[in-house]
Amino acid sequence: MTLENLAAWAAKKGITIMGTGDFTHPKWMAEIKTKLEPAEPGLFRLKAASGAASATRFLLSVEIASIYSKGGKVRRIHNLVFAPSIEAAGRINEALGWRGNLAADGRPILGLDAEELAKIVFDADERAVVIPAHAWTPWFSVFGSMSGFDSLEECFGAMTPHIFAIETGLSSDPAMNWRLSALDDMALISNSDSHSLQRIGREANVLDCEHSYDAVFAAIRSHDERKFLFTVEFFPEEGKYHYDGHASHQVRLAPDQTKARGGKCPVCGKKVTVGVMHRVDDLADRPASQKPKGAIPFKSMVPLDEIIAEAFDCGTNTKKVRAEYERLLAELGTEFAVLIDAPPEDIGRVAAPAVAEGVRRVRAGKLAISPGYDGEYGTVTIFEAEDRAKFAAGQHMLFR
Ligand SMILES: [Zn+2]
Ligand SMILES: [Zn+2]
Repeated sequence: MTLENLAAWAAKKGITIMGTGDFTHPKWMAEIKTKLEPAEPGLFRLKAASGAASATRFLLSVEIASIYSKGGKVRRIHNLVFAPSIEAAGRINEALGWRGNLAADGRPILGLDAEELAKIVFDADERAVVIPAHAWTPWFSVFGSMSGFDSLEECFGAMTPHIFAIETGLSSDPAMNWRLSALDDMALISNSDSHSLQRIGREANVLDCEHSYDAVFAAIRSHDERKFLFTVEFFPEEGKYHYDGHASHQVRLAPDQTKARGGKCPVCGKKVTVGVMHRVDDLADRPASQKPKGAIPFKSMVPLDEIIAEAFDCGTNTKKVRAEYERLLAELGTEFAVLIDAPPEDIGRVAAPAVAEGVRRVRAGKLAISPGYDGEYGTVTIFEAEDRAKFAAGQHMLFR
């Protein structure tokens, strides 16, 4: 995941601005300084002179893990930090460098209270931004069932007024978060949190704003659908912690099943890992399917290579899938163009019939997902065996 490769994959996906990640790491920061140059205010691009010039813009970002004890419990929380300039990032790094080893990991682990982290970041630059990462995952998040808090105030104390957004994460979507009136003032953002090039953009924020650091965050804070158009989301069942359970012996439980078993695993008798849906349900004060005023809409997606793999009934990392993926991008522009923007006729003209039907079904939400639990991704089923047989036989699929 070099900056050149990130820029190239962002272009393939249809991403205009992406986070650099890891700016607290000395070697990665050296890369950033060597390979990027300032573009619009607070945004960076590959240096033209490097011969790798591209339209992709970067903003300075990092994820920080905090492990500390507060209120008699051990807390493990991940936060995103964004900096408006190299200088601001440098000041943040200097202050955090006193609190732990920034060179040990791209996502440093610090024994630093999240409130203190926020204070350090805002002291370094008042335009810096702190956003709780994947806010619901059980082991490493602000609301996590195993290691988090019940409210933002408990976590961020005096810094709470400066926290204006949370990242919903892969295992929850905005609709689930709408169930908490306490989050009505929060912007709900979605990022890919990806550790590989293929998975960048699996979640994204779609903004209509000027290209600058300040305009990006102003749009996110606006609660205005004309500036923050929508987020691109996983179906939350796809995420690794949607349901409860124990992965080591394939025990997957819906929240009410967990409650019926007193929170215990039917195989080993120990407490199960309580997932995101259960946790949202515990903290919610509204029934499902109520959209609060000013909430930003969202579109649920399945990554294109997974749709193709489902259509062809083979793995995502096969030659057949990669070839179809590249062909669709060459014809239709970007992955987001295929998933979101392209008219069905255009996809039908270009894609294999089963793939076109797969995109149509995902757009319509016609798919089945076995929910993820205890660190296992959910599995998506778009086609039944008989559907595939029809496509394989070259028959024209009747649209249902
Ligand atoms: Zn994280
Ligand atoms: Zn168990």
